[in-house]
Amino acid sequence: MQTGVHITQNEPAERLPALLKQVFGYDHFRPLQHEIMRASLAGKDTVAILPTGAGKSLCYQLPALVRTGLTVVISPLIALMKDQVDQLEAAGVAATFLNSSLDAATQRQRFKDLNSGKFKLLYIAPERILLGDFLSHLARWQVEALVVDEAHCISEWGHDFRPDYRNLNQLRTAHPEVPIIALTATATPQVRADIIGQLRLRAPSVFISSFNRPNLGYRVVPKSKAAKQVWEFASARADDSGIIYCQSRKGAESMATMLREQGMPAIAYHAGMEPEERTKNQEAFIRDEARIVCATVAFGMGINKPNVRYVIHAELPKNVEGYYQQTGRAGRDGLAAECILLFSRGDMVKQKSFLEEITDEQAKKLARRQLEQMAAFAEDVGCRRAHLLRYFGEEWPHGNCGNCDNCLEPGETHDCTLEAQKLLSCVYRISQKSRFSVGWQHIADVLVGANTERVRKWGHETLTTYGIGKEKPKEEWISLGRQLAQLGLAEVGADDFPTVSLTDQGMKALRERTPVLLTRRPKAQTATISQTQGTRAAKAGDIQCDDGLFAKLRLIRKKLADARNVPPYVVFSDVSLRHIARNYPTKPNGFLKIPGVGEKKLAEFGDTFMAGVKEWLSANPRQEFSEPKTPPTAAKKKSTASSGLASTILETLSLFRTGDSIAEIALARGFSLPTIEGHLAQAIEQGEPLDPAAFYTPQEAERMRVAFASVDSPALTPVFEKLSGEINYGKLRIFRAFMQAQ
Ligand code: ADP
Ligand code: ZN
Repeated sequence: MQTGVHITQNEPAERLPALLKQVFGYDHFRPLQHEIMRASLAGKDTVAILPTGAGKSLCYQLPALVRTGLTVVISPLIALMKDQVDQLEAAGVAATFLNSSLDAATQRQRFKDLNSGKFKLLYIAPERILLGDFLSHLARWQVEALVVDEAHCISEWGHDFRPDYRNLNQLRTAHPEVPIIALTATATPQVRADIIGQLRLRAPSVFISSFNRPNLGYRVVPKSKAAKQVWEFASARADDSGIIYCQSRKGAESMATMLREQGMPAIAYHAGMEPEERTKNQEAFIRDEARIVCATVAFGMGINKPNVRYVIHAELPKNVEGYYQQTGRAGRDGLAAECILLFSRGDMVKQKSFLEEITDEQAKKLARRQLEQMAAFAEDVGCRRAHLLRYFGEEWPHGNCGNCDNCLEPGETHDCTLEAQKLLSCVYRISQKSRFSVGWQHIADVLVGANTERVRKWGHETLTTYGIGKEKPKEEWISLGRQLAQLGLAEVGADDFPTVSLTDQGMKALRERTPVLLTRRPKAQTATISQTQGTRAAKAGDIQCDDGLFAKLRLIRKKLADARNVPPYVVFSDVSLRHIARNYPTKPNGFLKIPGVGEKKLAEFGDTFMAGVKEWLSANPRQEFSEPKTPPTAAKKKSTASSGLASTILETLSLFRTGDSIAEIALARGFSLPTIEGHLAQAIEQGEPLDPAAFYTPQEAERMRVAFASVDSPALTPVFEKLSGEINYGKLRIFRAFMQAQ
């Protein structure tokens, strides 16, 4: 425990809630924010791993106000620094930045102001640390906290390694007494360990939250004519900002051109453009002038725009991590946003052929595997949210998420036992005959009786399963295979080529002819991507308001922003405007109640917006709205009146009561193990009297109790890691449910 900082008492921490309202205009902390702030103010090194939009910036900005000295923030992107400083200044906080974009005279002035203690926060670029005698300046400026933003940039394991970040360890050497706060939205254990090691953090408090983004709705749509589909979608949302991700620069250009020709304010963004044009386009997007940006993955890092309402992937992303990150750029403000992936098997084949050009075998292997995982996501018939979270090692214990295509419109369940038997036995026969495993492609070739070189070479035309699946096209067999793998009946190995083998469960299913029920997405339902339009208002995160007034307020905001040469969200976020447009405040007291309105913004913008509200009310009736919807963690749409539990949970519960194991129920119902465990956990949380002994031993219970008590977060991953992975997620989740029920 360090005590070197000036603040040794908790008093400054006690001022945080009042300042939260006074300066930033918020009534409540978001999850973990307060805990992170308190740990840091108590002098601890802290690591905060929270997803995009969780409100990481506030975790150091608010404490900076109660510290007597300076908080220094290391931030990798020059554009973002200015943005953050603009936002802080708009809230009345003395903040500034130093980077290579400043001319010499401005630099000198900033140093002077820093010397005189004018600022609470200073943003700098990492390369600055080693420039001149910068480190010694920090002492003069009475630095009380060092913040490393985007801390994953320090790790070569991360997706955005920046060598300059490695120099940050000198911060600790030069100023050992100053607590460090590291923030990132990248949570892999390797990156986390790297951050702690490289920054030389001392017994840091580590805070990890769920990576779920409740306000993002996920949808996978069969791709037909991408440009037309995108146009349909975007034209139904003329006022909304969106990002269309394309694979190639050419693709991005032609998509933008097409949309412009249809009268839509679209621009392109990719690494092949001239820097000036790129900056110009980015600016136009951020300032709400160009509503749509058609981009390659080069676009995104450093975009702080909170009101991106949709992200469409016109082509299959290369991996799930990239997909999560890119979709994560939607809905930072917490309002509902849509993530749409246009998917076709043809795309998959095309991408696979691109991979053949990779010369490094290791890299090729990895890329292939990642692409397979992406396809598995696209073809999953279960909850997309659960799938994404599982990919990052987190469980989704709530069952139906109520905000993805598969949860909103579950496909029909149908009996696939016969097909599954054919496929599983084909896998089995091949491995028996050849003593090696093959991939789905070859298995499907054998099933449809294809006469390929490999079939002939290995003599697979003599197998009893050769040609027993002629009734289905090859692609359908591959898709069925992926679904069986999702059910845990087969597994895809991690070696050179993704090869398939049967799991014990799969062997058992084959031997005992266990019924296999699979879900098929209803085809007609998925044809168009703009169908969600009608139901938008009910989405998680939405704030109902007077849309006419909202539009007017946006115009007022744009004018004020342009006059100050800042993006509109620096004036107010869409969240604030929506609250104004549902509460119609016309007096300062009422206006102060709007989230995002602090004292400075009330003084600077209040009159203008209140005048706008009055003017609106003089010509339009006031509308009434019911309580705002808070983003649900789980949808309880289908609940029955008698028990409050969804019918799907009741079904699981009744099977469990008859003595079926979780694995048996999963198999019988055609769900994954985690889904069934989630059902049971939910039932337990709601007070269903089940016996803990049915799930784990008393010894395991004790270990879990200790582990849960020792971590700061209710998330399962930290507990799982604490127990070195010796107790699986299913048990942890059930245990947590029993704790919650108590
Ligand atoms: P991150 O850096 O984690 O992606 P940001 O710091 O950009 O997230 O915050 C996302 C949005 O949430 C911002 O618009 C911010 O003003 C808002 N926000 C942060 N904390 C709160 C809070 N306690 N209450 C309401 N809004 C908040
Ligand atoms: Zn879902």
